[in-house]
Formats: sequence, C-alpha cells, structure tokens
Amino acid sequence: MFAKVLPNRNKKKDCETSLIPEFIYPKYGPGELWEQVAKDILESGGIIRKGAKVTEVHKDNSNKIDYVSIATEDGTEKVCGDIFLSSMPLKDLVAGMNDVPKDMLDIAEGLPYRDFVTVGLLVDKLNLVNTTKIKTFNGLVPDCWIYVQDTGVKLGRIQIFNNWSPYMVNDPEKEVWIGLEYFCNEGDYFWNMSDEECKKQAIQELKKMGVLSEKSIIKDAHREKVKKAYPAYFDTYEQIDKLISYLNQFDNLYCIGRNGQHRYNNMDHSMVTSFEAVHNIVNGIQSKDNIWNVNTEKEYHESAK
Ligand SMILES: Cc1cc2nc3c(=O)[nH]c(=O)nc-3n(C[C@H](O)[C@H](O)[C@H](O)COP(=O)(O)OP(=O)(O)OC[C@H]3O[C@@H](n4cnc5c(N)ncnc54)[C@H](O)[C@@H]3O)c2cc1C
Repeated sequence: MFAKVLPNRNKKKDCETSLIPEFIYPKYGPGELWEQVAKDILESGGIIRKGAKVTEVHKDNSNKIDYVSIATEDGTEKVCGDIFLSSMPLKDLVAGMNDVPKDMLDIAEGLPYRDFVTVGLLVDKLNLVNTTKIKTFNGLVPDCWIYVQDTGVKLGRIQIFNNWSPYMVNDPEKEVWIGLEYFCNEGDYFWNMSDEECKKQAIQELKKMGVLSEKSIIKDAHREKVKKAYPAYFDTYEQIDKLISYLNQFDNLYCIGRNGQHRYNNMDHSMVTSFEAVHNIVNGIQSKDNIWNVNTEKEYHESAK
C-alpha cells in the first residue's frame, strides 16, 4: 500500500526495497490512508478513542483478557472486550499485565529499542546537482531519501519530501522540505538537546557535507522526537520465542504491528499482521503462528548507524 512497485510488479525483483523506482504514495502523505480508515470505522458504527493510553491489560483465571484500563484526561476507565488486538510495545503490554511470571517480565523488560529524532528544514534549494535524466522542479535531485555514509556527521538519512509528493510542499518550485533523520537513544545527549541546538547541528552538518551552501536560506525548521521508533534485536531479544509462547496462551489476545510484535516490520508488514489476525478470528483458527510469521523471511533490511 505504502511503497508498492507498480509497472514491474511481476518481473523478477532486481533491486533493493529501498531503491524501487516507482510506488503508490498518497497525495498528502500516508496519514491520508489512516484518515480514510478512521472514517470507514466511524461510518460502520465503530468507536475510536483518541488520547487514551492503555495502562493495564487484565487477564482472568481462564487464560483470557477480560478488560484493559485506559488513562484519559478525564481519568482511568475499564474497557471490557471479547477480543484484544494489541499494537502497543510488547514491553509495555507485558508490564501492564497481572500475575506475569518473573522470567517473562524480565524478557519483556529487557527488549531494546532505538529512538529517533527528526529535524524538518524548509530551504530555498539544495546544493546538489541532478545528474540523472529524471526531470524535476528546479533541478532538484530526484531521490526520496539519501542514506548518509559520512561518519563525520551524526545524520543518518535525508528525506526529500518534495519527491514523495510535491503536494506536501506549499511551493515545490521554489522551496524544498527535507527531513533529517537521527538515530539515538531516549535520554542521550542528542535526545536531550534543545530544539534550537538540534536544528543548529542539523544545519551545520548539511553545510559540512555540501548539501546546503553558506548562502542557503532556511525558511522554517521543526524538531520531532519519536520514542521506540526501532525495535532492536539484542539484549533479551534472543529469548523472545519464550515470551511469544507465553502470550499465545491467551486465546483472545493478538499481538500485531511493529512494536506490538517487536519486529522490524514496515507499514505493509504491520498491516498484514492485522489481516492475518482478523483471518484467524473470523475463521476460528486458534494457532497464531501465521500472525507471528509475517516478515520472517529477513529480506527487508535497513541499518541504523
Ligand atoms: C523513521 C521511520 C521511518 C519509516 N519509514 C517507513 C517507510 O518509508 N515505509 C514503511 O512502510 N514503513 C516505514 N516505517 C515503519 C512504519 O512506520 C511502521 O511499520 C508502522 O507505523 C507500524 O504500525 P503499527 O500500527 O504497528 O505501529 P504505530 O504506527 O507505531 O502505531 C502504534 C500506536 O499505538 C500507540 N500506543 C502505544 N502504546 C500505547 C498504549 N499503551 N495505549 C494506547 N496507545 C498506545 C502509539 O501512540 C501509536 O499511535 C518507518 C518508521 C520510522 C520510525
């Protein structure tokens, strides 16, 4: 749905996932997809509770989840249900459950994540030359993202939002929105930088690499922090199969998504885990193996420096 190859869909895959030349992308970005999903849910009588944090996942004596507690600005509330699909981080799910054996609590508690800071910059132009035959506005390089190999900077990847969809930029002929991606850990020096310090470092790094020139005009800047952006595969991750077996005992609990499975799932994989869960629920299939087996072929890789 989000990064799907179009014309050569049936041909032998001959390039890395992150280098595919064409894909479908919503005009105003992937959020549009979820706005439509939310609309469909409401129209079919569903209820969406926003600003509600699940703080407790309660299981009864018969291996079933019977309710969750949610914290909202109006206080805490119990929400009962027959079936629970969980996309909250596995670590938080298990921490919120009652009567969990200590060894399972330890595995969940030890699951590691990498966190993420992104700096958006609106600039007049990039100091990079388009040497391809692809026509672009204002000679902009045609890449959607550029991986940064320079070990002299902290920056890991540059997104060029004009190329994802020019509709996301006010005046794509005269300005470029770029997103600078920094991989870090919650609480480290980079995470704790002030907005201004962080934006300053981002601009300096781009100038150092020649992506911006000294004359570049920075029209706008924004910094965003994202906790648990990347589920990581070290510490107690090697024992995750034990935790999965433990969670599979709860008949009406389905772990889906990226952090919900603690797997480096992209958006498509994450959606497929929920399709598989719904398939099992509708067809009365007890095993959850098909849900946990999405994205186990280890074909899709990205590395964070
Ligand atoms: C920097 C970055 C770039 C990416 N780029 C791409 C890309 O180009 N293509 C692609 O396909 N995928 C990409 N991904 C991956 C994609 O974002 C994920 O695969 C997808 O969002 C996972 O969907 P999800 O529903 O499992 O989790 P999320 O989208 O993370 O949704 C989980 C939701 O649960 C909420 N939540 C967490 N805890 C609780 C709680 N206790 N109570 C209530 N709610 C809770 C969170 O706030 C969040 O809204 C990227 C991810 C990152 C971090």
